[in-house]
Amino acid sequence: MPDRLRVVVSGATGRMGRALAEMIEADDDLELLGGIGRTSYELGWATTVGFPAIEAPEEAEWLLRDCSAVIDFSSPELFRRLVASQRAHLAHCALVVGTTGLEQSDIDTLRDLAGTGPVLPAPNFSVGVNLMVALAEDAARVLGDDYDIEIVESHHRRKIDAPSGTALQLGRAAAAGRGVSLDDVRRDGRTGMAGEARLRGEIGFHAVRGGDVVGEHRVMFLGERERIELGHVAATRELFADGALRAARWLTGRSPGLYTMRDVLGLA
Ligand code: NAD
Repeated sequence: MPDRLRVVVSGATGRMGRALAEMIEADDDLELLGGIGRTSYELGWATTVGFPAIEAPEEAEWLLRDCSAVIDFSSPELFRRLVASQRAHLAHCALVVGTTGLEQSDIDTLRDLAGTGPVLPAPNFSVGVNLMVALAEDAARVLGDDYDIEIVESHHRRKIDAPSGTALQLGRAAAAGRGVSLDDVRRDGRTGMAGEARLRGEIGFHAVRGGDVVGEHRVMFLGERERIELGHVAATRELFADGALRAARWLTGRSPGLYTMRDVLGLA
């Protein structure tokens, strides 16, 4: 079947990587070429986690040569190793990046890659969250500074970055709705004697970590006489894998450029 989308998953041994492998194998339109992990694995072991092969980034050239899309749900370290060792091959395929905790230099790298191929990074691939981002921007625009914005997120105990990439995306959208930059109004957590009450216009972030929570986000708009809340609860990580595959299908064959989930979902 020549029209099948040939996919390589980076972060193969992780929870998202395994969820993606299962979903790709179950879909007749998709072909799983292999995975990329910290190291190259024995063939037998790779198949036990659902991959025909898993290679270290530096050994992955043969996988990337023939692929339509790379989906990366790994770590900033693995993402950097992949780009450093396979930049030329990445230029030939659609690149979907779900890894969070990326730094400004990584964002610059993504922009650079978008000069040669289609690239779509998203801190959250759920359709519901991306709709919520658009709603947060609208709400912040309409409500203005009279409503204090606080963003609360919860994730499983193994998550290492905080606040979550999604919380920051929601914060950036709310800040854009108010016509300000998030960097100028961001406040992470609150503790002790801050010396002053809450500043007007601040956007607060609060991260809860524990158990097996897949991902929950709440944006609160707190006014004098009312409170408006936008909320999203992710029930399973397949939700993100499903969105990433939707993005990969949409992205494959597009012109070089940096795209967003808003483009995929047709949200203005
Ligand atoms: P995980 O910890 O289960 O897996 C991470 C993968 O990266 C593994 O393959 C691991 O071997 C590799 N890795 C981790 N640290 C490494 C290092 N220092 N060097 C080399 N390789 C390393 O995590 P997960 O739950 O599968 O999530 C993976 C990433 O995707 C995280 O950044 C997470 O925040 C993000 N994520 C994004 C979305 C989204 O919708 N965008 C959804 C869920 C998770």
